[in-house]
Amino acid sequence: MKALNVVLIGPPGSGKGTQAELLRDKNGFVHYSTGEVFRDHIARKTPVGLQVEEYVTSGRLVPDDVVLRVVNAFMAEHAGKPTLFDGFPRTIPQAEGLDEVLAEQKSAVDMAVLVDLPDDDVVKRLTARRQCRKCSKIFNLTFKPPKVAGVCDDCGGELYQRKDDSDTVIRDRLSTYHKQTEPVLHYYSEQGKLKRIDGALGRDRVYEEITRLISAA
Ligand code: AMP
Repeated sequence: MKALNVVLIGPPGSGKGTQAELLRDKNGFVHYSTGEVFRDHIARKTPVGLQVEEYVTSGRLVPDDVVLRVVNAFMAEHAGKPTLFDGFPRTIPQAEGLDEVLAEQKSAVDMAVLVDLPDDDVVKRLTARRQCRKCSKIFNLTFKPPKVAGVCDDCGGELYQRKDDSDTVIRDRLSTYHKQTEPVLHYYSEQGKLKRIDGALGRDRVYEEITRLISAA
């Protein structure tokens, strides 16, 4: 598989996190999820965690300067490694910030993949989503239930429902996505880097499509 920097974009619950895990495990990408990074900071009660907690639990976007500070620290550590950005960039200033830091490393975003899903499907999926507290693996009570209720198949950790996966917060996250993140699609489309995949195809077909796109790049 080619060593590319790939940005995964999509509404919450489109399955981009699951795809990112697959691409990390099977294809050797570094997986970078700003959402995971923030949840980790919140759990450890770090200064960044305290600063972002209110935003993350209410489903609002963390301010760009905070996001870019965290991303720049990550990039300094992982310079030159092919990376899959999951849930970042979510605004135009973030997309520009990523271009800048990559340019400093003589690198660039090679491809942006939109994993698309209609709003009603998003709500259905997210209210059934559960995540492992220990290893962050994602389950879905409808499509991918754990073997034992409430327990992670992989590590035995406790499964929980994210606070921002409640019905009203999901609606807010969707409206934020349409307003602030959709312009990022145009940003990459104008550069000829945007590919679209139908997220309703399901985990395996979406994975096949993404790997096909990356191989053909
Ligand atoms: P996610 O796990 O990607 O759905 O992110 C969960 C939450 O973390 C979001 O609803 C935001 O509050 C915050 N977050 C994650 N990534 C970003 C980002 N790139 N920009 C702003 N906020 C973010």
